[in-house]
Amino acid sequence: MFLKGKRAVVTGSTSGIGLAIARALRHEGAEVVLSGFGEAGEIARLCDELEAGHVPADLTRREGVEALMAAAGPTDILVNNAGMQHVAPVETFPVAKWDMIIALNLTAAFDTSRLAVPHMKAAGWGRIINIASAHSLTASPYKAAYVAAKHGLAGLTKTLALELATAGVTANCISPGYVWTPLVENQIPDTMKARNMSREDVIRDVMLVRQPTKSFVQPGDVAAMAVFLCRDEAANITGANMSMDGGWTAE
Ligand code: NAD
Repeated sequence: MFLKGKRAVVTGSTSGIGLAIARALRHEGAEVVLSGFGEAGEIARLCDELEAGHVPADLTRREGVEALMAAAGPTDILVNNAGMQHVAPVETFPVAKWDMIIALNLTAAFDTSRLAVPHMKAAGWGRIINIASAHSLTASPYKAAYVAAKHGLAGLTKTLALELATAGVTANCISPGYVWTPLVENQIPDTMKARNMSREDVIRDVMLVRQPTKSFVQPGDVAAMAVFLCRDEAANITGANMSMDGGWTAE
């Protein structure tokens, strides 16, 4: 319970990786603030399970981010995890999707950070953990907005690390390859359409083709790394981009 007394905001924590991180931080004693959307009964059950508050703000809008951080209060651990994906060739990429993906996957992390940092600096301790992606280090076709946003998030992380280096605050990315979550499942139909492939072929020949271990990362693996980054032993890990991609970006 080494995180007792610490407050964690995990964006996009009603599902997938964010929920696994929220559970793991709670397990170590942190007070957790949930964010994201979902079915009301299921969210109420999660709030009970984690003894957590939930702020259903839309983080594609600056006012939404500001509402989340105001409701959460002083934040010791900030996990920027909320993200979305859209798969389409660049010439037909819907411009509204570009705007939303950049807003949620990149701009929201800037806004949560600028609002969380004053308390972290004053406390002399803080952790900013940005859930980027293998796509923060390498590209794939048909993912213009996602790849651009994740590369941007990696750059933002490095900048935060340098600015906060002497303040007891670290900033790092965790960059998973394919993790089996609703985000991945939901992009299968679009990828089938964009590449004219079957579901099985998309999983084997698109998703896992570049993941040398040929297995999906589990949400709990990412959560375990996030917990480690909160430990005192991780005080000198800052500005890093921790790959958890089965060797994808080693190629
Ligand atoms: P997911 O779709 O399961 O969960 C996304 C979460 O974000 C949900 O809680 C959802 O309600 C929330 N969310 C969506 N739009 C929002 C909005 N406008 N405002 C506030 N919250 C919103 O996704 P996931 O697979 O768990 O992905 C989480 C993060 O991990 C994302 O940033 C994603 O890019 C990254 N990632 C995922 C994978 C993967 O393979 N699943 C790989 C690399 C990186």
